[in-house]
Order: sequence, then structure tokens, then C-alpha cells
Amino acid sequence: MEEKIDDLLKDKTSQIYKNFEDIVNINSFSSNAEGIDKVLNQIVKIASSLDIPLQTVYSSKKVRPHLMYGKDKKDDYYAFIGHFDTVHSPKSDFKTMSEVDGLLKGPGTNDMKAGLIVALYSFYILQRLYPDAQLPFKILFNSDEETGSGDSREIIENEFKGALAAFVFEPGRPNGEIVTRRKGIASLDIEVIGKPAHSGVEPWEGINSILGACEIIQKLEALNDYENGIIVGCNEIIGGVARNVVPANTKIVVDVRFSTMAQQKQLFSDIENILTLKNLAGAKVKYDLHVNRPPLEKSEQSDRLAKLYMDISNSIGIKCEEIATGGGSDGNFLSAMGIPVVDGMGAVGNFSHTKKEFIYKESLIYRIKIFVLFMSQLLDNKDTISKEKI
Ligand SMILES: [Zn+2]
Repeated sequence: MEEKIDDLLKDKTSQIYKNFEDIVNINSFSSNAEGIDKVLNQIVKIASSLDIPLQTVYSSKKVRPHLMYGKDKKDDYYAFIGHFDTVHSPKSDFKTMSEVDGLLKGPGTNDMKAGLIVALYSFYILQRLYPDAQLPFKILFNSDEETGSGDSREIIENEFKGALAAFVFEPGRPNGEIVTRRKGIASLDIEVIGKPAHSGVEPWEGINSILGACEIIQKLEALNDYENGIIVGCNEIIGGVARNVVPANTKIVVDVRFSTMAQQKQLFSDIENILTLKNLAGAKVKYDLHVNRPPLEKSEQSDRLAKLYMDISNSIGIKCEEIATGGGSDGNFLSAMGIPVVDGMGAVGNFSHTKKEFIYKESLIYRIKIFVLFMSQLLDNKDTISKEKI
């Protein structure tokens, strides 16, 4: 089988790179509606040249277009998940792909246009390896992952209930690691409300909201437990109006991350206890604490899938380990639905979200090969992983 995959890949190599360059060169910043439409059309074109009919889908709010394959599938399929938006503004001078010393640099190369190519070409090759089979795949490429998947979350949660497992084509980490755990992410916005007063005439009549905020920040920061994956970052503070006014309003913007649902429960209760404390220099507190993405947790099943993927990669001489990361992806939503998720199935590169972003050119090809070998094991059921077990 390996030889056949190599032959198919060899045949398609130049087309793979051409397709990749074409989508990288179209700006698809999340809020660039025109660019999103353009890249969507280009991806549909590439997919249809590979006999994969993608269709445009919308959430019930019809905010923006996303792409799916296999929408009608209800059960027993594998989910392929990716996004075609990027964080790079059309105003940026980081516009097109370039090749430097075996690296393909460009906006969205690593995160995650290469992953889209890996998913589509893996599907194409698997279809050639199993010409008589109706492959049990269902794909979603969304257009708002970088802004938190506010619109597409509904589609993910409605359409993927019946997935056996989900594979997310976000980039592999710099040393080729796949991702088996991601932290959950919550936003905490705090408003500390004091009382204004002239700071030279009668400061004792005022209530200093900055003082109250300082007390809160120190208590919140004490909740940090990096070793166990808990992060509470008071990272932005807005307060005060002038040198001679006791500040009546201070806002604190907090980034909250956790590794498991159990941690989240405890952490939220600790945070709420701090924010409902009396005293706080006499100030009052209003706050909004909500989960943006639940954690992607490792399960017995996802562990088994990840091990199989790593074994296959290592067996063809490409070192692959697993890693946990603090950043979220749409894999987090799927994991919270109880679906085994393995993430980081895309190409291998680095510096996502910066102008240094790149992938290793070769990884675009060998990651397809690894994923095809991996998926063929699942389809053949030769491995210890059976559908029942997943
Ligand atoms: Zn991404």
C-alpha cells in the first residue's frame, strides 16, 4: 500500500503545491468577507478536481459561509475539521507565499491552509485505495475559527453528534507533534465600581476603584497553577480619569485557561468567591465570566488513535510525538461532545499568527502519507481499534 500511496503522491506533488500556493495567496482574514468568499470558491474548485463535492453551508443565523462534505451522514463517520480563515489582515504586507530554504512562508500557511490540503488530498488518495467504498467521512471547513467559531459552533454541535472520532487539521507543532490536549478557555471581564472625589480636596469621600482592582488582581493571580494547567492572567487594566480624581471605574480583562472540566468547575467557583468578597476597598464589583471553548481532553479512545498515528509516523521514519497546548481549536467543542479528538493533523511548521509563519515544504507531502496510512488502518479495522471500541 505504501508504494501505491507514494506513486499517487508523486503524481500529484506539483498540483499539491500549486493548490496550496493558490489558497495562501488569497487573503482570508476572518473579517475580510470578500476574501473569505474568494478562498471558499478556490477550495471548492480544488476539491471538485479531486472528486470531493464540498457544499456551502450556513448556521441558522446565516452570518457567513462555511464548507461541508457529507452533510447528510448521520452516524459512523470520521470527522475532518479545519478552517480557512486566518489572522492576517489584508492591510498587512505579508501577502503571498514564498519558498526559502525548504520552507514555505506566507499568511495562513501553517494555520492552517496546509491542513486543508492535507485533508483533501488524503481523502483523494484514500478514495483511490478504496475505489468501491463510500468512505465514511464528513468534513467541515469553517470560516470563523480564528475569532472563536461564534457562527460555526452551532454547525459543529449539530452536525457531528454521530462522529466515531474527529481529526482536526490544525498544524502539527514545530517538531511534528500532534495535539491530544488543549486547554479550555474562558473570558472574565470585571468592572470595579468605586466613587469619584476630588483627590486634593476630599479624597476620603471617594472610593478608589483601582485599589479594589489591585486587591482582586492579586487574589486572582494567586489562582495560577501552571504545573496543573491552570492560567488566570489579569492582562489588561483600564481605569482612572485624571491625576486629581479618585477613580470611580476600573476594568480588568482576564484570560482564564484550564485543562479539564473538573478544574473549570473548581476554578469558576474560586473566581466567584473572590469577586463576591466584601471589602475590596469599599468598591462594588460587576463581572462576566463565560467559557469560550471547553477543554480538549484526552480520552482512552483518543489516546489509542494518537498512538496509532504516532506509531505509523515513526515506522516510516518521521519522528512524531504528542503534545498538550494552551491554545484552543474547534477540537475543543468536539471533545466536549464526548467525541475522541486528535488534533494537529496538518502540515508541520511554526510561528502561526505572525509574519514569520511557515511550513516545512516536505511536510505537506509526508503528512498526507501518514494520514492516509493511519486512516487505512482504521478503515481496514486491522488495528486494535475497532469501531465498537471507539
Ligand atoms: Zn488554526
